[in-house]
Amino acid sequence: MSYQALYRKYRPSTLEDVMGQDIVTKILKNAIQNHKVCHAYMFSGPRGIGKTTIAKLLAKAVNCLNPHDGDSCEKCENCLSINSGFNADIIEIDAASNNGVDEIREIKSKINLVPNQLKYKVYIIDEVHMLSIGAFNALLKTLEEPPEHIIFILATTDLHKVPSTIVSRCQCFEFHRIQNEDIIKRLEYICKKEKIIVDKKVLENIAQLSDGGLRDAIGMLDKLNAYSNSNISLEDFEKVNGIVSIEEQKKFLDYVFNKNIPNIIQFIDLIYDKGKDLILFIQNLLELCKKMCITYYIENKSDYDVDFLLAFSSNISNLLKNINFSSNIKTIFEITILSFVNNYHSSKEINKINSSINLDEEKKVTQSVVNDDKIISREIISENKSSFDDTKFKTKNKQIVNNCFARADKNAKKEFENKWSQLNDYALDSEYGATACYISDGKICAVGIGEVILSFAYESMVNRGIHLIDKIEKLLEKIYGKHYDIALLTNDEWQHEREQFISNKNQNIKYEYIPVDEINTGYIDNHEKVSDDSITSEAIELFGADMITFN
Ligand SMILES: [Zn+2]
Repeated sequence: MSYQALYRKYRPSTLEDVMGQDIVTKILKNAIQNHKVCHAYMFSGPRGIGKTTIAKLLAKAVNCLNPHDGDSCEKCENCLSINSGFNADIIEIDAASNNGVDEIREIKSKINLVPNQLKYKVYIIDEVHMLSIGAFNALLKTLEEPPEHIIFILATTDLHKVPSTIVSRCQCFEFHRIQNEDIIKRLEYICKKEKIIVDKKVLENIAQLSDGGLRDAIGMLDKLNAYSNSNISLEDFEKVNGIVSIEEQKKFLDYVFNKNIPNIIQFIDLIYDKGKDLILFIQNLLELCKKMCITYYIENKSDYDVDFLLAFSSNISNLLKNINFSSNIKTIFEITILSFVNNYHSSKEINKINSSINLDEEKKVTQSVVNDDKIISREIISENKSSFDDTKFKTKNKQIVNNCFARADKNAKKEFENKWSQLNDYALDSEYGATACYISDGKICAVGIGEVILSFAYESMVNRGIHLIDKIEKLLEKIYGKHYDIALLTNDEWQHEREQFISNKNQNIKYEYIPVDEINTGYIDNHEKVSDDSITSEAIELFGADMITFN
């Protein structure tokens, strides 16, 4: 007997056997049991999750002469005839392989003929969204007044491409991706039946790679089985699927962390030459970083600085968003990694220098702010005397925060947020790529007429931004068509500023706009009465409810 693909061999034969689509099969069985079968069904959802399989099982169950609980008996003459695959009353049409006009015309011409053998003539139209307009129109007419003995089951991966006039005449079922656990269970079952020895880790990896598609998962198992003669190791899995092993992934991460550029280049060349899947490699790296971060937060241990892991993850996840559209994946991957290594390590160096100088600066600042919360701008003046870059940045930052509060506007924030996703368009730009990736990690805190406050999870990320500030301003100018002054804060600093803002509002202290780079007394007292409620609601409007804490 010729070899039968595992997917065919283990295809469910009844609705009851179907895995991972319990709700759909339950509703269908109930309908059959209660004699409430519809004349048109629409099955939508991703590929390989059982739409056409269920369509065929439904076609069998509605025609079974002796159904049990709404499911086929597998013994009656109709079940046997349908299982043989040669029943003229079950007609399958693949709309993807032709535009369907002829087929639909034929349906129309024969629609009034009674079935040859079965109770219902069932038309299963797969990938129905591919039908031409003409075919859709013809189909619509038959759907409007279908004869009693006809059932249409339409299946599609792109429901939005099917005309609503068609959809509205069908009972619709949305199929979901099958859970990894369910896929693993099914694979385990097949392995047991087929006497395949397999590492559980392999099955987990297959499930993850198949993205909820059971058909793909079983197909992968089949391929691996053929490759490894019924004894599948993790190594086989990696080889067959072009996957870079976890040890190799860690090695690569090490090169990046240690700024080992020759090894990085060599590594990428090597996996490329071996035919490994680069996109899969990036996805795996991302997964690895995520696991390491979780270990860090839960067990408080990590091989790397968590700042590094987060910065690297955000960089490669941005890369993933765009790399699919690119023709030269390898080059883009190399450039992204090199630019990350360059940016990350140079900002780390600067951090070291800054933290040693900051100790002296802090002393000066504490001395200059004397018990007078209302004149906050004294801080600005005292800090401004220093010529050091970082202090200048902080001074300017404070001015911008002040101005942003003075001119904050909820509509401005909304408008700003609306265009924020355009940053993605620059992710692969040779000049602005790194900048776009960097600021897309920021959170938009507040937006004024000409100023924006962005916050970041970590101080090192803010420090990275100091050196990118001109580029950030230029990039935002490209996106928004106007100049914004940018303040970069850590999330904690923003939290502090925000609380300060609310507390100042409560005391009727008003923020006044100071042109940046000009030293001004800044904050002034303002005795215009503002009610507490309106302050809180104003704050909510400006920053969003999630940022406001009620004491
Ligand atoms: Zn039967």
